[in-house]
Order: sequence, then structure tokens, then C-alpha cells
Amino acid sequence: MTSDIKRTIVVTGGSRGIGRAICAAFASPNTCIYFNFSSSQATGEETAAQVSAAGGIPRPLRVNVASEKEVLDFFKTIVDETGRIDVLVNNAGITRDNLLLRIKDKDWDDVLEVNLKGAFHCTREAAKTMVRQRSGRIINITSIAGVAGNPGQANYAASKAGLIGFTKAVARELSSRNITVNAIAPGFIETGMTLKLPEKTRAGIISQIPLGRAGAPEDVANLAVFLASEAAGYITGQVIHVNGGMYI
Ligand code: NAP
Repeated sequence: MTSDIKRTIVVTGGSRGIGRAICAAFASPNTCIYFNFSSSQATGEETAAQVSAAGGIPRPLRVNVASEKEVLDFFKTIVDETGRIDVLVNNAGITRDNLLLRIKDKDWDDVLEVNLKGAFHCTREAAKTMVRQRSGRIINITSIAGVAGNPGQANYAASKAGLIGFTKAVARELSSRNITVNAIAPGFIETGMTLKLPEKTRAGIISQIPLGRAGAPEDVANLAVFLASEAAGYITGQVIHVNGGMYI
């Protein structure tokens, strides 16, 4: 496969939602899109179909980003098959919302393990190849909650704020190797994560958004594609908001 591939993109949590839109937005001929997911419910078939329709090569794999071993195997497969990694998007994320006094240790740990440690595992592996290549783009999907906080999301907000500090530190470390590292902070985006909220809560949130609507996954994907492009080569260590004015 190696000789035909011009670009290798890795997207964590690509089976649905924002990750699916990111995979589709990057898809083009001679581009291999590796994406993962952890459950057996959504196996990424729809994502793979969208990538193929745009001429890209989809490579869906079941990988729990919280597992160091699974992540090591994932990146070994990628490098063995394509010999390169051009873009890593750390998108996989979960919520276990509850008020502070009710958050169980397991709910705290699970959120931190997937949202923050998962990004660490994947970035560490991708960086080995990017440093050797002397090029690469790393994009971390954080959240408005990591910047502004949100009641009922202390665990999630802590993980996303941690991801911002991680982004800035790694941006400084890898800049001399021509690798940029940025974070995208979405606001309220229509995906499974937000559709599970009660309709009244959703309507209340949307009424607070200056642009008057929830975001689409494509609103986030468009920015990811830009940050990975040549045109964004002088942008690193930044947190860029996609939120319809929800946080200004
Ligand atoms: P989603 O629809 O729930 O999709 C989450 C994706 O992550 C799925 O593909 C899921 O697949 C995968 N995933 C979850 N745990 C994983 C694990 N341990 N290992 C590998 N993959 C895993 O969520 P979304 O709304 O698209 O959110 C995507 C990212 O954007 C998340 O980081 C989220 O925090 C962030 N974000 C979302 C919003 C929003 O309004 N939707 C706002 C701000 C930030 P499996 O379930 O199969 O594992």
C-alpha cells in the first residue's frame, strides 16, 4: 500500500459525530484515513463509505485510546502500512456528566483516561514518526467547557482544560521539527453527545448562542482541514473556538 499513499491522516473516534465529519473532510484520492472507535455498536461503516465516496482510502480499526497497548499496535499498523503520519486529530471523547458532589471516582477516571490520557498516548506515538519526517500537524479537539467551565461537567471540563495545557506544551516542544499543534474548542455541536440531552436543555442552550443555531460537525471539520493545510503553517499552540459566539 505504501507507494500509492501521499497523505496519511489519523482521526481518533471517527465512527460518528465530529470525528466522522473530519474523516470525510480530509478524504481525497491517495489519502489514507485511519480512524478508530472503541464500541461494537458503531463500527464506522458510514464513515468508511463517506471516505470512499470522496476517493479516500478508509482504514477503520477498533482501538481504545485509553489502552497504551492498543494505541501502540494501532500506530505500528499505520506506519507499517503507509510509512508516514501527516495529521493526527485527537477527537475521541466521552462525557459522564454529574454534579460535583455526585461524581463517582470511576466517572472521573474514565473521562480523564479517554479524553486526556488517550490524546497523550496517540500524540506520543504519532510524534515519533512526525519527528523523523520533520513535518506533521496535530489537532486536539477540546471544548468550550475546558475554557469556560460548565456545571455538571467538572470531570469533562478538567479533561478538556488539561488538553489545552497539553497542546501548548507539545506545540513548544515539537515546533523545531516543523510540527504544529493546535486545539479546536467546539461549542454546542449536533452529534450523539448532545442529542442525548433533554429537548428542553438543548433548546435552552441554543437560545444562548448568538448565531441562533447549534453547530454542525462540518463546522469543526472545516477548521481541522484548514489547520492541517500549508496555509496554516505559521499557527501553533493556539485554541481556536467554533461556537457560534457562545463564548466570546
Ligand atoms: P460522539 O458523537 O459521542 O462520538 C465520539 C467518538 O469517540 C465515537 O466515534 C466514539 O466511538 C469515540 N470514542 C469514545 N471513546 C473512545 C475510546 N476510548 N477509544 C476510541 N474511540 C472512542 O461525540 P462528538 O460529539 O462527535 O465529540 C467528538 C469530540 O468533540 C469529543 O472529544 C468531544 O468532547 C468534543 N466536543 C463535542 C462537542 C459537541 O457539542 N458535540 C462540543 C465540544 C467538544 P465508540 O463509542 O465506538 O468508542
